Parts: sequence; structure tokens; C-alpha cells
Amino acid sequence: MKPIVVIGAGVSGLTAASALQEAGKPVVVLERSKEVGGLARSLNLDGYVFDIGPHYFFLKTDARADSRVMECLKDRAEIFDFPEILAPAVGRLITFETGVRYQMYHALALIAVAWAATRWSNSLTSVAGWLFVAGTLIFSGSLYALSLTGARWLGAITPLGGVAFISGWLCLALAALRG
Ligand SMILES: Cc1cc2nc3c(=O)[nH]c(=O)nc-3n(C[C@H](O)[C@H](O)[C@H](O)COP(=O)(O)OP(=O)(O)OC[C@H]3O[C@@H](n4cnc5c(N)ncnc54)[C@H](O)[C@@H]3O)c2cc1C
Repeated sequence: MKPIVVIGAGVSGLTAASALQEAGKPVVVLERSKEVGGLARSLNLDGYVFDIGPHYFFLKTDARADSRVMECLKDRAEIFDFPEILAPAVGRLITFETGVRYQMYHALALIAVAWAATRWSNSLTSVAGWLFVAGTLIFSGSLYALSLTGARWLGAITPLGGVAFISGWLCLALAALRG
């Protein structure tokens, strides 16, 4: 059987060669430099170590591929699961941003309520205003608390704020209809 030639013993070449070998294929890796690892290596110059490329890998692949990379690089690199490290932080930021966005929408809605109150003299406008205030406190407040503390049970309170917002908009629409 003719060997499969892999050109370059960087992370990709070594991983591919390792996978092919595991599958029972004869493999030859051709590397032009004296060391393997490609960019994932360090240079020693005048007693100083220069990392010319990565020593930490953020992979989103399957565990077998990760372990293959580690096997090839041995103790030269560490592998981190990117989503595992960052996903919770990103999730909290998104939660916080949602709270800010809905607070901003309903700050504008309160200006609309103030304007509506000067045109339509019925109690529905004032009810709408208070519902927007309550919605902001409950909806955005629970999202802020959730993102800052990570206490997931706070997420169960958020929909109550959403109900307050919807009720507020209904009241404002009714106020406009009654005129
Ligand atoms: C400064 C820096 C920091 C980085 N940090 C990270 C990081 O933190 N995390 C991360 O996941 N990625 C990082 N990367 C990206 C990462 O280096 C690359 O994705 C990865 O090294 C690519 O591997 P590779 O095997 O495809 O290529 P390379 O590492 O470039 O390997 C190619 C190999 O092929 C050899 N070659 C080329 N041509 C020939 C030829 N004609 N014949 C024989 N051999 C040949 C070269 O000598 C080399 O050994 C970083 C890159 C840089 C530059």
C-alpha cells in the first residue's frame, strides 16, 4: 500500500497523520524545519524563550481530536474548551443587555404615556404608566440580578415583568381607543 504523504508537521499535519495512522493507513510526514509543532513551538535565543505561536488551544471539536492534538504536542500545549470557559460569561452579558434594552424601550414608553396623559384624560394612561414602571422593576431588575448573581431562580420572576409590560401596552392602546 502506498503511504499517504502529509506535508508539514504543524498541529494540522500531526493530527491528520495521527488519525490516518489510527485508521491503519501508512503515513509519511514531511517537515522542512528541524522541529515539529509548526507555529506551536518556542525558540530559545540567548537564554530567552520566545513563543512564536499558540501554547493554549481553544478548540470546539470532539474529545478524540483534542486528545490527538495533545498526544502530538505532549507538554507543549494546553487545551481549553472555549465554550465551557466563556459561554456562562457571554450568557450573563446577554441577559444584562436584554434587561437594559427593555428598560430603555419602556423609558421611551413612559414618555409616550406622559404625552398620552395630556391628550386623553382617562385613568388607563396612568395605569399603563405604573405597569411600565412595575414591568421595568420586575423584568429588567430580575435580569440584572440574575446576570450579576447567577441565581437561576430569578429567571422565573422575569415573565411577571413581561406580563406587566404587555398589560401596560394594552392599557395604552385602550386609552387611545377611548380617546
Ligand atoms: C502568534 C500566534 C498565536 C496564536 N495563538 C493561538 C491560540 O492561542 N490558540 C489557537 O488555537 N490558535 C492560535 N494560533 C493559530 C495557530 O497557530 C494555527 O491555527 C495552527 O498553528 C495552524 O496549524 P497548522 O498545522 O495548520 O500550520 P502551522 O503551525 O503553520 O504548521 C505548518 C507546518 O508545515 C511546515 N511546512 C510548510 N511548508 C512545507 C513544505 N513545503 N514542506 C515541508 N514542510 C512544510 C512548516 O514548517 C510547519 O511546521 C496562533 C497563531 C499565531 C501566529
